[in-house]
Amino acid sequence: MVHLVSMPPAEESDPAAGGLRRNATLYLTNDDDSFTTSVYGSRYAGQDLPTTEMPENEMPREVAYRMIKDELSLDGNPILNLASFVTTYMEEEAEKLMTEAFPKNFIDYEEYPQSAEIQNRCVSMIARLFNAPQRDGGAGGAVGTSCVGSSEAIMLAVLAMKRRWKNKRKAEGKSTENPNIIMSSAVQVCWEKATRYFEIEEKLVYCTPERFVIDPEETVNLIDENTIGICAILGTTYTGEYEDVKGVNDLLEKRGIECPIHVDAASGGFVAPFVVPNLQWDFRLKNVVSINVSGHKYGYAYLSPGYSPHNRYYCMCQQLTPFRLVYPGIGWVVFRGAEYLPEELVFNINYLGADQSSFTLNFSKGASQVIGQYYQLIRLGRKGYHAIMSNLTRTADYLSASLEDQGFVIMSKKSGQGLPLVAFRLKDDPNRHYDEFALAHQLRIRGFIVPAYTMAPHTDNLKMLRVVVREDFSRTRCDALIRDIILCTGLLENMDRETVKRQDEMIKKHSVNSRKSQHNHEKFRREKHSLQGKHGKTHAIC
Ligand SMILES: *Cc1c(COP(=O)(O)O)cnc(C)c1O
Repeated sequence: MVHLVSMPPAEESDPAAGGLRRNATLYLTNDDDSFTTSVYGSRYAGQDLPTTEMPENEMPREVAYRMIKDELSLDGNPILNLASFVTTYMEEEAEKLMTEAFPKNFIDYEEYPQSAEIQNRCVSMIARLFNAPQRDGGAGGAVGTSCVGSSEAIMLAVLAMKRRWKNKRKAEGKSTENPNIIMSSAVQVCWEKATRYFEIEEKLVYCTPERFVIDPEETVNLIDENTIGICAILGTTYTGEYEDVKGVNDLLEKRGIECPIHVDAASGGFVAPFVVPNLQWDFRLKNVVSINVSGHKYGYAYLSPGYSPHNRYYCMCQQLTPFRLVYPGIGWVVFRGAEYLPEELVFNINYLGADQSSFTLNFSKGASQVIGQYYQLIRLGRKGYHAIMSNLTRTADYLSASLEDQGFVIMSKKSGQGLPLVAFRLKDDPNRHYDEFALAHQLRIRGFIVPAYTMAPHTDNLKMLRVVVREDFSRTRCDALIRDIILCTGLLENMDRETVKRQDEMIKKHSVNSRKSQHNHEKFRREKHSLQGKHGKTHAIC
């Protein structure tokens, strides 16, 4: 036991230390180093990072890298969590392919014709996954394109619907003023952007305290001559429930109304085809004219993930960007046939010598995401996706059942009837002195980030918590979460009202904001046009 020594008692060490401090002469270097030392020995480490004005002089790249990296690590930023998530979860081969493609500008078709070819293969695979009608190639078959995400895909689909409506109205010699679109009040914020940016009136189908998706009857009743289309969501961001696309389609057919449906399958597009293949929501339905899906949500799902103890909590919990499994930046839009995409919106470009048709909002973008998507599609195949989605569905059911046992009210669907997520809330109790947000904050202290939301309008300000089940969320970790939920609820029960409130405020102020940056400009902070501005709906993070 020669190495085992006990620490000297305090009386012996303290006076010496104090004496040292008193007699110390300050001896600090002030060399104008030309960066020969380590990053933290350099003068840059002793200065603030430039914030308002571009600095006069350059700095060494190691320093710039380290300073920015360190700053970001203090942030608790979801993007940062995501970065470590990515390293752990993407197969090295996929990462390598994507890194190698970083310098390629996807739009430069002539220089990178093979990247364009790979995108076309993805469009074809996804269109077939969504049961696009097979016609004799050429002008008749499904068409589609890669996008930066579902948001861009949705903007493009909305533009196409608007233009088709406009052309039809013009041909009939009727007014092309006041187009409208019908959608759920639980839409993702990009739909609100699309309608506002493209000047289309929103006709909302409101949720109720019992129903969190559109009602087909109510939806179809809202149609008038100015309706450009209907949005149906395959997996809302709040409860993950699939909207009844078939119900809407069949009602349209029954009443002989012609109205296009766009399905927002951002998340569900890569889940439903595997878990509930008989559910008719896609091009099997006659009125579905276009579909979008995000590649960076379930589309990139990855088998047999690694596990890093460093991000144990980020992995086991619902993080701030729950659906994303790798680098965000890929979505797809597919049209049933070329006739649903007015040609005025397509630009034939002869870029650097190659003829291409282009339908995008942005011009330049990296080719990496397209290549990453192709990798996942061919690496996993239908069987791989099916295996992952089956596990997710089982775990979500298990978590639902466990939370129900604990007295929570489950708001999401089970058994693959919705996305593999669990949305839940506390039981109604007028005497309860804490809410879902307080529970979320307690869990955050434990390391779990389980977001709380206020539901879409007209739901009596229903609050809820949501856990997105990802592929690494094993039974054991699920149990750990349940234990912590029980622990935190117990803590809250024993806390008085004032303490709960104070703690809530502290967490809101310090944990979810950077001290320095005010996220909102004074001018934009109190906007009143969105569902959040008007009704206090908080958007579910996705
Ligand atoms: C995530 C999401 C979007 C936006 O997709 P991005 O790929 O993030 O642009 C739109 N609709 C739904 C239902 C979503 O879940």
